[in-house]
Parts: sequence; structure tokens; C-alpha cells
Amino acid sequence: MKITSEKIKDIFIKIADVLIENKNYLTELDAAIGDADHGINMARGFTKVKEKIEPNGFKNNSDLVKTVAMTLISTVGGASGPLYGTAFLNISKVIPDSDFDIDSLINIGETVIEGIQRLGKAQQGEKTMLDTIIPVVNSLRESKGKGLSLERALEECKKAAEEGMKATIPLQATKGRASYLGERSKGHQDPGATSSYLIIKVIVDELIS
Ligand code: ADP
Ligand code: MG
Ligand code: MG
Repeated sequence: MKITSEKIKDIFIKIADVLIENKNYLTELDAAIGDADHGINMARGFTKVKEKIEPNGFKNNSDLVKTVAMTLISTVGGASGPLYGTAFLNISKVIPDSDFDIDSLINIGETVIEGIQRLGKAQQGEKTMLDTIIPVVNSLRESKGKGLSLERALEECKKAAEEGMKATIPLQATKGRASYLGERSKGHQDPGATSSYLIIKVIVDELIS
């Protein structure tokens, strides 16, 4: 699949718009099990991302994604800022310049997980953003195994993301602020798993449209 760098830039602008639109929703989710700032943090960071990338040209995709990463690291704060920042910084090191196939998507997913785990030490099932992201990468690997088209693989991984996000509801948090609540963190959808789903949904919808 050919993806131009203009398209990648459009995708980031769309991600920013969706996170800004969902600022209150993400903040309400964080109010239940955290400190009611996840939507505020993400909207602040991605407003800045939009300002940084919209008017500018970039040498290549790596340069663009690195700008996104550095902007998130310096503006988002909280737990999610460094985690998303590191994830995008890792992506900047592996993102192809125009030709994407299932292996490039798997590569991107694996380096995202590596970065988030290096920093946050969470595994799947601890009620974090990884509960959305790990199933996405597993789904891509499965789709590769089945020989599905890239479009079908993208559709499937979006479903896996949504299921992973919803699967955080009954979980007890054992990482991050929500873990301070112990048992009382059960019964609420994780804010970071939700922002990760929103990001993945935009990427998939933009790539298959
Ligand atoms: P803070 O908790 O510092 O206020 P945010 O509210 O912006 O930061 O982000 C909270 C989200 O960060 C959580 O919902 C969770 O998904 C994610 N998170 C927290 N700790 C970790 C971790 N160790 N590994 C992965 N994700 C984490
Ligand atoms: Mg918070
Ligand atoms: Mg906070």
C-alpha cells in the first residue's frame, strides 16, 4: 500500500481533531479511576502537535513522526505523555517512507509495545493502553498468518482494539494512578486504552477510506 507523507500528516491532524473532540469523554473516564485530566492532557498535546505540523513541510515520515513525539513529550505530561511520546519516537525509527505492507504495520506495533513497556513495565491485563495495543499487534500477526489482505487486516485490528478497550472495564488496575483504587478500579473503562482505541480507529479508517 502506497501512503504519501501528505496522508500521514492528514492522519495526525485527524487524530488531533478526534482527541480534541473527545476531551470531555476521556476526562470523565479518568475522573472515575484517576485524576480527571487524561482528556485535558491529550487535547493539550495534540493541539500543539497540530500547530507544529499543519503549516510545515517535513523531510520524510520519520522527521514528521519525530516532531509529533517530541511535542507530546514536552506538552502532555502525566503518565501518558512520556508513554505516547516514546511510542511515537519509536515509530519514527521504523516508519517506511511510502510503501507499507503488513510487516511494516507489525514492526510499528511491536516497537510501540517495546517503548511503552520499557518505560511503564505493564503487561496485558493491567488495565492500561497496552490492553488496546497488544491485541492489535496480535491481530495483525494472525491476519498475516491467514494471508488476509492489508485492508482486511486493518479492519480486523480495529475490532481487536475495540474489544481490548472494552475488556479493560472489569479489570483491576495494577499500574498507574488507577491502581491506587485497588478493587474499586473495577467496572470502569481505562482512559488510556480508550485514547489508544481512538487513535487506532482514525488510522484504520483513514487508511481504508
Ligand atoms: P496520569 O495518570 O499521570 O494523570 P493520564 O491521565 O494522562 O496520566 O494517563 C492515564 C493513562 O495512562 C491510564 O489510563 C493508562 O492507560 C496509562 N498508563 C498509566 N500507567 C501506565 C503504564 N505503566 N503502562 C502503560 N500505560 C499506563
Ligand atoms: Mg490522569
Ligand atoms: Mg495527571
